[in-house]
Amino acid sequence: MTSEDIPYCCAACRLLQEPARECIDCGSVVIGRLDTEQELLRWTQLSMRPQDGGVRARRVTAIDLPSPSLGHDAVSRSGVARALVAPLRSLLDDQPILAEQISLITRWRRSVFLRRVHAAPFALETPQVLVITGVLRLVPHTRPARERLAGDDERLARLGIPAHFLEGANLEVVTILPGDTLSVSGVVEDTRIAELAIYRDAPDTQTMIGRMGSVVRIAV
Ligand SMILES: [Zn+2]
Repeated sequence: MTSEDIPYCCAACRLLQEPARECIDCGSVVIGRLDTEQELLRWTQLSMRPQDGGVRARRVTAIDLPSPSLGHDAVSRSGVARALVAPLRSLLDDQPILAEQISLITRWRRSVFLRRVHAAPFALETPQVLVITGVLRLVPHTRPARERLAGDDERLARLGIPAHFLEGANLEVVTILPGDTLSVSGVVEDTRIAELAIYRDAPDTQTMIGRMGSVVRIAV
């Protein structure tokens, strides 16, 4: 992993993302590079034990993930997901996907250490075509499988997380595949997206773009 591969992380919602001054999801300005500004994600526990020198180990702490802000004009639609562009490859195992949300969580309370959302624009047939893109939050109907990860698991490196940065977190993955039935909530716009030329001439194409303060929430 080169230093350019290290993502930024928002302290408020723990989303790993491209370098930014404010979080693309929640707008928090408490954001920094994961490795060099990791103090944003840690707290110091005061200890009464003299052998600790009054201070216990610093570690990455987990948070209760705040609910996404959907925007005042958010609406809900249901439909079947279809690919618009060539499917992405999963960050974890290279399987073709439309979107995936990878969370590193605590075992018991589902508090979140870090999370990453990996998605390309895709279509929802409602049956009108609704293009889904931008900042997404995936909410699973059923509890996904989880797996405890060693700090040097190579899948952490694929997420841009340095080895031994996070020990013993549980991996939870929510994936959207072509043909999945989804319920989406967000703000619908008429904005056309240049790269989606396939729908440029379709006047009834609408787009749900997740933005800071108006995220697209998807029940999977
Ligand atoms: Zn955030």
